[in-house]
Amino acid sequence: MALRDTNISRLSTEEFDALIIGGGINGAVSAAALAARGARVALIDARDFAGFTSQQSSNLVWGGIKYMEGYEFGLVAGLCKSRNELLDSFPSTVKEIRFLMTLTRKFRFHPWIIFASTWLYWLLGRGKTRTPRILSMGQIRESEPLIDTSDGRAGVEYSDAFLHDNDARFVFNFVRSAIDKGCAAANYIESRGAMRDSAGHWKTEVKDQISGTTFTIRSKILINAAGAYVDQHNQLCDIETRYQHLLSKGIHLIVPQISENHRVLAFFASDERLFFAIPMANRTCIGTTDTLVHNPQTEVSDEDRDFVLSNINACLNLPKPLQREDVIAERCGVRPLAALKSSGNSLDVKHMSRKHVIEVTDNRMHISIFGGKLTDCLNVGDEICDRVAQLGIELQPAGKWYGEPDAQKRGEFSAGHTQWDSMKSSPATLMRHSANACGDVMPPTQISCSTPSKKI
Ligand SMILES: Cc1cc2nc3c(=O)[nH]c(=O)nc-3n(C[C@H](O)[C@H](O)[C@H](O)COP(=O)(O)OP(=O)(O)OC[C@H]3O[C@@H](n4cnc5c(N)ncnc54)[C@H](O)[C@@H]3O)c2cc1C
Repeated sequence: MALRDTNISRLSTEEFDALIIGGGINGAVSAAALAARGARVALIDARDFAGFTSQQSSNLVWGGIKYMEGYEFGLVAGLCKSRNELLDSFPSTVKEIRFLMTLTRKFRFHPWIIFASTWLYWLLGRGKTRTPRILSMGQIRESEPLIDTSDGRAGVEYSDAFLHDNDARFVFNFVRSAIDKGCAAANYIESRGAMRDSAGHWKTEVKDQISGTTFTIRSKILINAAGAYVDQHNQLCDIETRYQHLLSKGIHLIVPQISENHRVLAFFASDERLFFAIPMANRTCIGTTDTLVHNPQTEVSDEDRDFVLSNINACLNLPKPLQREDVIAERCGVRPLAALKSSGNSLDVKHMSRKHVIEVTDNRMHISIFGGKLTDCLNVGDEICDRVAQLGIELQPAGKWYGEPDAQKRGEFSAGHTQWDSMKSSPATLMRHSANACGDVMPPTQISCSTPSKKI
């Protein structure tokens, strides 16, 4: 029986401590953290795991230097701490990368203020990364000749981190880790809403999008991690919250590689937001936009394309400006941003906090996760465990529930890897060896899966 079928059978017959709706980053870390602490957990997603917002990000694991302008130093310090923990725990996935920010003469701050800010940022990041440096226009021309320096004043280089493999794969590894610890997870299972039975337990009606069958999942707690669909799902379950989501669309355009330097080029766009050209293997990923939308289903408009292309062309000195025909692929997602309902629906999404909020409806044994970032995911996992424990589920003592195997295990795996060539003549030995390696040493997806699988 395929793993998905086994898990669907478990979903329809077992009772769980918690059912998590949504296998984006928030749902995936919640499942991984709870399963590691011995909770009986179920996780469902209506699409592929990480198939919605969590596969449309800029792939940055960063402290959010731009939030310093809004004086959100607490948020930045927290995000830097998470970034550092991810750098330490996922050395093959999360890697430090240099950002080169070019500042023009008409920019609202003097370069020395920006330079001082990057040092403050470095300090808030506890000095984990390489130190910032200021560059003259001549130094920029020398190291990155494609940057248009005609209106430039100075450059600042600093460090942050990025997801070397990509966001969806990063998320899927948490799903995989949850499954390895007993979580019943299945994709293409859509929740149609839930209600509580007379014993106070949740009964969630779901539809298998592949077979078309419907069934019920029973759980003590319901965790709504449906991202941009959190409010919609809460309505289906008759859950009232203080928070809601405002949605901000962000797009990226993928074009042929514009620079061979493995470095993020940062500029300030015409709307004064930070704007990036990010290395993506032998391509460059350019973006992003930040526009209020009212529907989670969005697509890239000509206006979005022109915004990104005109901004990047204004900053670069390419032999031929980038045109729509140069676009190889596009990414488009909506950021679910946490907002108090009392603040209304007309906040400026560009200036809204990216901080996550976990709202518990105690008397209904219900948890909603609002907002968040990939970078903040470990905190979400830990906080969900705290809330679930407060709701009366007994969890095993907290320990480290995430991360790649330590250097010694990775070394053993690599050493084993070099023996594989000699095993080619004996497929049975090779298969036994690789199965052991998958089970014991490396997270299986790192070996077998380049993108989240459609059916697991
Ligand atoms: C353009 C852009 C750039 C970004 N860049 C960065 C960045 O560089 N770094 C960073 O840290 N963060 C970044 N973010 C933010 C980050 O990507 C998001 O905060 C995060 O991915 C949201 O995760 P989520 O789990 O809340 O939502 P999602 O990933 O959308 O997951 C929710 C899941 O719930 C499922 N679902 C919904 N309804 C149901 C239902 N009824 N039944 C079953 N399943 C359901 C959906 O299918 C979906 O898979 C960016 C976001 C955008 C849009």
